[in-house]
Amino acid sequence: MKKTLLLATACLLLGTAASAQRLAGGAAPDHYALTFAINFPSNSFEGDETIDVRLAKPSTTITLNAVEIDFHEVSITAAGLTQTAKVTLDDKREMATFAVEEPLPEGPASLHIKYTGHLNDKLRGLYLSTYNGRKYAVTQMEATDARVAFPSFDEPAYKATFDITAIVDKGDTAISNTEIISDRPGPGSQHTIKFATSPKMSSYLVALVVGDWQCAHDTVDGVKLGVCTVPGKENLTRFALEATKAILHYYNDYYGIKYPLPKLDQIAVPDFQPGAMENWGAIIYRENALLIDDKTASVGARKNVTGVIAHEVAHQWFGNLVTAQWWDDIWLNEGFATWMTPHPMEAWKPDWLVDQDVVNDIRGALSGDGVQNTRSIHQDVETRTEIQSVFDGIAYGKTAAVLHMLESYLGPEVFRAGVNLYLKEHAYGNATATDFWDAMARSSRKPVDKIMPTFVMQPGEPYVRVSTRCADGDTGLTLAQKRYFNTPEAFQQSAGQQWQVPICVKGIGNAKGAPECVLLTDAQQEFKVKGCPNFLFPNQGAMGYYRYDYDPAALHALGAAAEQGLSPVERISLVGNEWALMRAGLHGIGDYLALGEQFKNTPGYILLDNYFDHLEFIGRDLVATSDRPAFQSWLRRAFSPLMAQLGYSGRPSDTPSDKQKRAELLYVLGNVADDSQAIQESRTIVQQYMKDPSSVDGTLARSAIHVAARHGDTALYTQYKAQLQKPLSPEAYYLYFYSLADFPGTELAQQTLDWTLSPGVRNQDMFILGTLTQNPDTRALAWDFLRSHYDAIGNKAGGGLGGAGVFLDSMDSFCDEKSKVEVEEFFQQHPTLGTPRNQKGVIESISGCIALRQQQQPKLSAWLQKNEGTSKTAAPTAGKP
Ligand SMILES: [Zn+2]
Repeated sequence: MKKTLLLATACLLLGTAASAQRLAGGAAPDHYALTFAINFPSNSFEGDETIDVRLAKPSTTITLNAVEIDFHEVSITAAGLTQTAKVTLDDKREMATFAVEEPLPEGPASLHIKYTGHLNDKLRGLYLSTYNGRKYAVTQMEATDARVAFPSFDEPAYKATFDITAIVDKGDTAISNTEIISDRPGPGSQHTIKFATSPKMSSYLVALVVGDWQCAHDTVDGVKLGVCTVPGKENLTRFALEATKAILHYYNDYYGIKYPLPKLDQIAVPDFQPGAMENWGAIIYRENALLIDDKTASVGARKNVTGVIAHEVAHQWFGNLVTAQWWDDIWLNEGFATWMTPHPMEAWKPDWLVDQDVVNDIRGALSGDGVQNTRSIHQDVETRTEIQSVFDGIAYGKTAAVLHMLESYLGPEVFRAGVNLYLKEHAYGNATATDFWDAMARSSRKPVDKIMPTFVMQPGEPYVRVSTRCADGDTGLTLAQKRYFNTPEAFQQSAGQQWQVPICVKGIGNAKGAPECVLLTDAQQEFKVKGCPNFLFPNQGAMGYYRYDYDPAALHALGAAAEQGLSPVERISLVGNEWALMRAGLHGIGDYLALGEQFKNTPGYILLDNYFDHLEFIGRDLVATSDRPAFQSWLRRAFSPLMAQLGYSGRPSDTPSDKQKRAELLYVLGNVADDSQAIQESRTIVQQYMKDPSSVDGTLARSAIHVAARHGDTALYTQYKAQLQKPLSPEAYYLYFYSLADFPGTELAQQTLDWTLSPGVRNQDMFILGTLTQNPDTRALAWDFLRSHYDAIGNKAGGGLGGAGVFLDSMDSFCDEKSKVEVEEFFQQHPTLGTPRNQKGVIESISGCIALRQQQQPKLSAWLQKNEGTSKTAAPTAGKP
């Protein structure tokens, strides 16, 4: 599953009394025959289900999962005897127990169940989606919602085969995991579609979508590909087909196990809770995660869609073929799919510089894991809410980062051989964390089974202290480790925690010998490195999952040679690491600002992207009001020359990185520096884009639309809102949609807030509230709105995964004492909003921001004064105020 793209933190349930618990065992399914007869007028479906099970011992009862199901008739056949079963429901545990008079013998039995299910509006199970006034039926089962669509042994370890049949209206079609084997008229005016038997798989991977889908097709390696949408959007499918062809072919080769189904459909649906879901053979997406307008799409949207497809298709092996035994090891699904994503992207589009995205993702994972309230990758979970809460940055980002480090340590081919062994040994079955590192250790003959548990079974990330000493022409290297925390207090107190950390170092200036890699296994260890370089960089290749210190004076002394000595990804790592050193109280914020500026000409756009995110945060929450003019003036001096070099409009010679860099600069100059030319240029670009989207570079238009909104008025707001009524690509739609939250002033913000509860905003899109709380101009108003409409917002967004996520996401960006007290009160009033750990996380985030401002604001002030009127790269600017 791919999390909602807009959500930085985990999607979570509004806590409910529901506490799904595990089945006791005793019976296990081999095969399901499932018929869904769709009845759109009554928003329901009739289910007819036969489950072939095996009983481990004689019993008079069988218990499985079911919720929101109206049972009509249940019978059990075993040893030639058919008995009617009495049904007892346990809503709290989401289970149904079928009891018969005569004991069922050990061995095979067959359950036959007739029931009615509801096409709900909560985006879970088999639910209702609407578009242009017509209805669609769509499934979303992961993690624990197959039981809403059909009574099932709804845990990942209960794998079985599925024969699915859909009875649908004339003019509608259905898509499921496997190919259609028959389509016959009846009953009545409907028709009956039967699908081929599925591979052995977990219940959460069952898929069915019903409606007037329009599909475009292609083939790759003998597999029939389909990309499907609601009518009218067929022209947005070509890019996804091309990307999938490249990706599936890459995986067939990489995994050494061919994709096992004859077809792979990908369906963009109007209403969907996650970003996408990897159902075997029938992947379902939000529209903006699959559909691309090839004439107008930004580089970012193309990369995003390709990344989501690469993630979901990777799951066809990691997750679908080999499945985590239980949700406590969900990282075996999500972390692997996330780690795999850049590999086919890099092969398909080398000019996207995906290696930089990888380092950026590692930085993001480290940043999320540096808090006190983090969790270990392997995490015990039992209840529905707990299970949902582990689909987070740890399961996706941290795991992927640790796997990148391991791949780099073992070498790509050795790592691949271990992956292939693991997949072969557990194909069509389940696996645990130990299964993975055992296979890896056997295959690589390296201590993977010693390294991985230190990263998987304990929370947090290492901080590596580096000291060097030159003796007899070689460097004595001392490495020491402890846990990193992103506040000075916690960091100073941290002790006792250790990892086995692969560390690669590289000498710059006067260096002899190649980069060297060592394994740090103790609290402190001595190593020897050939030669005595001027500067030793402790994360060669930038793949390390650790924070590090370094010698700033030695780096500074290198001057321009630093840029030549460090590759672009190493510079990205170094600048990201500098922010972490500042947060832990080891360096000042001026060191960070200076280092980022020093490397601003780094090829690619990721370094600037990270840096500008932090500048935006500094401008919003750290800088004193009296210092803001100086801060903005420094920003203009430092970055206007780069903007002038690139120009305000696209050029035919632009690489994808040039386009992204230009867009980054326009955004930071317009919205952080309040640069009048950037604002004016944005207004011009937006008007041109609204007239003819293909006449403007789509990447630049993204920034321009946000900048114009942040400095916009009622007239522009009305123009944006009118755009939403037009047939737009999903990218353009969400661009205007989220930009509505950028406008200044409370009057427009109130309009946007009220609008969120109207039918004009889909249930899946309530995260716009978080954008309104991030805008300092509208934060207070949005916070009042959230508190006073708790039930209405929760009901609208709370079905499935979204509700608590909207609230937690909205509060996370607060940065003052008054808000902190109010959030604490709010959590006391709503103790089941998310998990206790989620609530603690929000409080920690707000407290951390307040403390950071107290610590760094005076240092920022001093640095700005010192740098007043100077910038290392000061150059004539193009008509700046
Ligand atoms: Zn996933």
